[in-house]
Amino acid sequence: MSDRINIEEIFAENVFTLSTMRQWIPAEAYAEVTNVITNGGELSGKTADVVARAMKDWAVKHGATHYTHWFQPLTGITAEKHDSFITHPNKDGKMLLEFKGKELIKGEPDASSFPSGGLRATFEARGYTAWDITSPAFIKEDATGKILCIPTAFCSYKGEALDKKTPLLRSMDAINVQALRIVKLFGNTKATKVTPSVGAEQEYFLIDREKYLQRTDLIYAGRTLFGAAPPKGQEMDDHYYGCIRERIGAYMKDLNVELWKIGVTAKTQHNEVAPAQHELAPIYETSNVAVDHNQLVMETLKKVAGRHGLTCLLHEKPFQGVNGSGKHNNWSLTTDNGVNLLDPGETPNENIQFLLVLACVMKAVDTHADLLRQSASDVGNDHRLGADEAPPAIISMFLGEQLEDVVKQLVETGEATHCMEGGVLETGVSTLPDLLKDATDRNRTSPFAFTGNKFEFRMVGSADSIGDPNTILNTIVAQAFCEAADRLEQAEDFDMAVHDLIKEYMTKHQRIIFNGNGYAPEWVKEAERRGLPNIPTMLDAVETLTTEKSIALFEKFGIFTRAELESRKDVLYEIYAKTINIEAKCMVEMASRQLIPAEILYVRELSDAVISGNNAGINTKVQKRLLDEVNGLLEQMQDALDLLEKEIVAARELKDHKERAFFYRDRVKTAMEALRAPADALEVITDKDIWPLPTYGDLLFEV
Ligand code: ADP
Ligand code: MG
Repeated sequence: MSDRINIEEIFAENVFTLSTMRQWIPAEAYAEVTNVITNGGELSGKTADVVARAMKDWAVKHGATHYTHWFQPLTGITAEKHDSFITHPNKDGKMLLEFKGKELIKGEPDASSFPSGGLRATFEARGYTAWDITSPAFIKEDATGKILCIPTAFCSYKGEALDKKTPLLRSMDAINVQALRIVKLFGNTKATKVTPSVGAEQEYFLIDREKYLQRTDLIYAGRTLFGAAPPKGQEMDDHYYGCIRERIGAYMKDLNVELWKIGVTAKTQHNEVAPAQHELAPIYETSNVAVDHNQLVMETLKKVAGRHGLTCLLHEKPFQGVNGSGKHNNWSLTTDNGVNLLDPGETPNENIQFLLVLACVMKAVDTHADLLRQSASDVGNDHRLGADEAPPAIISMFLGEQLEDVVKQLVETGEATHCMEGGVLETGVSTLPDLLKDATDRNRTSPFAFTGNKFEFRMVGSADSIGDPNTILNTIVAQAFCEAADRLEQAEDFDMAVHDLIKEYMTKHQRIIFNGNGYAPEWVKEAERRGLPNIPTMLDAVETLTTEKSIALFEKFGIFTRAELESRKDVLYEIYAKTINIEAKCMVEMASRQLIPAEILYVRELSDAVISGNNAGINTKVQKRLLDEVNGLLEQMQDALDLLEKEIVAARELKDHKERAFFYRDRVKTAMEALRAPADALEVITDKDIWPLPTYGDLLFEV
């Protein structure tokens, strides 16, 4: 790659954007495509053929040899099966490349090996992928060559969703319909569509690949299962926003180019709080495209790392005692005539539409705090939430002083007559200008914070898809809009009715607002007093999917059927059990084959030292003391290992997925911790040449 990067030239060069499509297909076909994108419906067979041929010709011109329906099964990552464009050679032996409309629109991967939670038995293996015409096709470039990727949704033979995309698209439809009702009530008759926008800030760790390869736990589990704290952690605050080291800089440069080529608007990059931790944020875009792009960001982060002798860890908690990684899901709603429904304007107290939207979001988040929390849960995030580095597992909303004050006025008097203003920030330096400041400070500890013209849902885990959180957000807000519109459309006096409704919703749901320190232990007590749900772990959250309240919500807006919800629960229990099982077996392997053998060598070395010291007639107090300590810990480790092995066997005997998952959480994880403790204690007193693993210090500070 040359050193000079021309962003304009490379941006989206591997994307079949609408403007590219317009150059490659006739005007009437293009008009049909844009109509379907805006208004839904299906392409005619003829136009589908035209688009498919153009897509293929464009892709082949760019060097693509294969195409794939690219989808997002419930594994949380993406799936692809490549088919080349080649066909039967004709009788002259000439090859004609082919890609038909029906291949573009529909695929039929063998679905039997993807998680379905019982929705589809293996003998009913049919699954279909359907082209998501609203997310552009792109060419993925890697060692396989160049592959045309067609973003798709993945459903069973009976149309049940088997992925993260289908429900998201359904939820976008739902919020579009309901939000349009709201804006119409306020006289915006020109808007024909309301779209949720999402910007997902992605945190990640980069470590040296050679060292990564020496850690079985990182290879199998993506996180360290053993490891003592290094002498220095993040206490000096010297990594956050710190100068980016050369090796990492070269990586980021390469990463940006790769992302820009596939149309991902990589915008912001910086060092994060923990050593070896970094962040990337793209510019926000329509939520389904943002979900696709976040998957591509995660994939590209990993792929590019390999080229730089690095490994990217996306796990929520790769290192115990060191800040983990999350993903901030910034969310807003915009009409197609350019109104952001979450923009309060200069004087929010006078912006009635905004206040109604705010009241509805408060109602949605309060009513379905449990679902929102569930949507941000995954196995890795259990290590992070509430651990003094991320929001607790309690959902609350931060509004900031200005809006909180407006809400208070409305609740107390029914009128909001004034609002706080930003004012001027005096720097006290004659050569610096005074700055206009925002009316509201930030709060970094809130799980759901209003940040100017969007909400930032900060609970999501770094390795997780943002599909679920956005499906939930769209759906719960759609419901609140729907209920508000039902009332307001019937009202005789609209102004009075909207005034009453805002007051009613804000009064009823003000308990969800919390502007204080979300990391403080007092908040947990206060939240309990307010009756807010505190759902500590992923498993505790699973059942929220099928409460009567949730089923009614999802069925009303056509997001999930009861059967789909049941199946998703089953998949979650299974994923949990399987993940912990892998971690536990990995610990067994490391303890049996690396740590215990190493300590036996060390014990022998120390014993030899005691014997030879005694023979030489010197005082062997130090040698003896260390020998006893090491041997004692070694014994503890062996006992803990024996117990862990027994627990793994016992867990596997449980057939019920839910019961098994809880057993892994309560028994297997406890046994894992009991094995880790003596091992970590041994690490810090064992001869560096004997300890078989790169330490936290090696991994975090020697990248
Ligand atoms: P922060 O200071 O919280 O990091 P940024 O301004 O960097 O905030 O924005 C973080 C993310 O939020 C980016 O991905 C950005 O594109 C996105 N974002 C900004 N405005 C909106 C909006 N109206 N709707 C959704 N996302 C947005
Ligand atoms: Mg942010």
